[in-house]
Amino acid sequence: GARVVLLLALALALTLAAALAAANFARSRAAAELGQRAAAALPLVESALSSLIEKERLVPLVLARDPEVMALLAAPEPASERRLDAKLADIAAGAGAAVIYLVDRNGVAVAASNAGATDSFVGSDYGFRTYFTEAMAKGAAMQYALGTVSGRPGLYLSRRVDSVLGPLGVIVVKVELDALETSWRDGGIVVTASDTKGTVLATTEPGWRFRSLPGRGTAREAPIAPAEDGLVRITRDGGSGLFAAASAPVGPSAPGWTLSLFIPAGTLPTDASRYAALTVFLAGLLLTAAAAWLLRRRRWAAALAAMNQELGRRVAAAIADRETAETRVRRLRDELAQANRLSILGQIAAGVAHEINQPVAAIRTYAESGVQLLDAGATDEARGNLGAIVAVTERIGAITRMLRGFARRGSGGIGPVPVDEAIDGALALLSGRIRDAGARVDRGAPQPGLSAIAGRIRLEQILVNLLQNALDALRDSPDPAIAIAVAADDACVSIRVRDNGPGIAAEARETLFMPFVTTKPTGLGLGLVISGDIAREFGGSLQLDPESGPGASFVLELPRGAA
Ligand code: ADP
Repeated sequence: GARVVLLLALALALTLAAALAAANFARSRAAAELGQRAAAALPLVESALSSLIEKERLVPLVLARDPEVMALLAAPEPASERRLDAKLADIAAGAGAAVIYLVDRNGVAVAASNAGATDSFVGSDYGFRTYFTEAMAKGAAMQYALGTVSGRPGLYLSRRVDSVLGPLGVIVVKVELDALETSWRDGGIVVTASDTKGTVLATTEPGWRFRSLPGRGTAREAPIAPAEDGLVRITRDGGSGLFAAASAPVGPSAPGWTLSLFIPAGTLPTDASRYAALTVFLAGLLLTAAAAWLLRRRRWAAALAAMNQELGRRVAAAIADRETAETRVRRLRDELAQANRLSILGQIAAGVAHEINQPVAAIRTYAESGVQLLDAGATDEARGNLGAIVAVTERIGAITRMLRGFARRGSGGIGPVPVDEAIDGALALLSGRIRDAGARVDRGAPQPGLSAIAGRIRLEQILVNLLQNALDALRDSPDPAIAIAVAADDACVSIRVRDNGPGIAAEARETLFMPFVTTKPTGLGLGLVISGDIAREFGGSLQLDPESGPGASFVLELPRGAA
């Protein structure tokens, strides 16, 4: 629910934060790596510059001891000067120097490799130039400067020419670093060589020459600005870009010089940061999704397990319920039947005592008066008394016969009994009485194959009972008729016995199934009681049909037997 949504939102926020952090980290890492690459490239650039300077420095070193040079300075003479011009031109071409020239003690060039050309140095005064004055003072000098004649920048390497008498002049080689600068530029890097004051000398960027590196506080600084992640932003040709920078002092070849190298970062840091951010973001999303999935799966599993458990519990409960319900019903039915039987027995016992008391009292009376009659010699009357006693014992015999039948009833198995056969059997037993009564019996259509769960004899006993009651009720009927109707559904067979007699009064219905309740002079009031008991024993019932019209109608319902 809301908790899961909150967790997901939190995970998303964390993912975003992680992606941002990863982006920053990746960008600074990329920048640092570029810086390292620049630092690694620096020695190569430096050694190229250094070796060039070392090589070119050899030229004035060697020429300063050249006897021809020394001789010329010691004794100037035009022919030897021109010869030296040619020699210097030769050396300059071989050494890759721009110009080599010899300056006399006064600073005037006396010989030069470019002597024949229009921009010839010969005759020019270089006495003001640092490479001259410093060389004169210290023996050697190095100066990066623009040429006064050519206007082209170059590195001036100078050396004093000495004789035993003292300094004779200075030999100078001017080296233009164009080729080196071009090779750096072709390598796609930006390089500056700057002096102690931070002034850019040799550089791949001609526009920066003699401007100062940033942070020097001068008006003309090179357009290099510090940027994020230790990178610098360089503005060139209107556009600008990020560069990784590295710088180091140039070796002994150029004391005081600093070499700076800039590698274009291009879109690398941005790309790296984007890539990292995307990767981390996707990973975060994946993780979040995985976590959500796991969470839900666990939840689902738990829910499923709970559901299963609940289902199992309910099914078990339902089964137990049904079992208990079934057993409860069965037990209740058994208990009811037992209680019923006991109550019937109790009532019968009480009734029997009462019923037998009367005839016994009657027998006693008859016997006593019979004795008196015999004493008086009235044997005929005494005979009458004895006959009366026999009649009374008949009644006692009937009661005991009924009770014996009731007691024996339990015997005999229960099973499918063809309904037609039971009905026909009962009618056959009563055929004499039916004929005497002149009653019409509507037997109903036969139902071949229909059977009820019962005991054959006891089912006939019930039917005989019902038919006898009907015949009794029809004693005074002008048009006695009995109808037997059989109906059945899947589970149940019902046998209806109806007569067109006087019927049963409403108040009599209550006591109909009570023992010894009878409206008949010689009745025992046990027929319906015992019949009902037997029906219950079969798992059925015997009831008065409440909707019976004129006359009485009893319905015997029994479980249906298998076809
Ligand atoms: P008994 O036949 O010995 O009287 P029953 O238990 O068979 O005992 O009948 C009880 C009473 O129910 C009868 O005395 C009678 O009053 C009444 N009865 C039973 N069947 C009928 C019937 N078909 N028509 C009218 N009354 C009946």
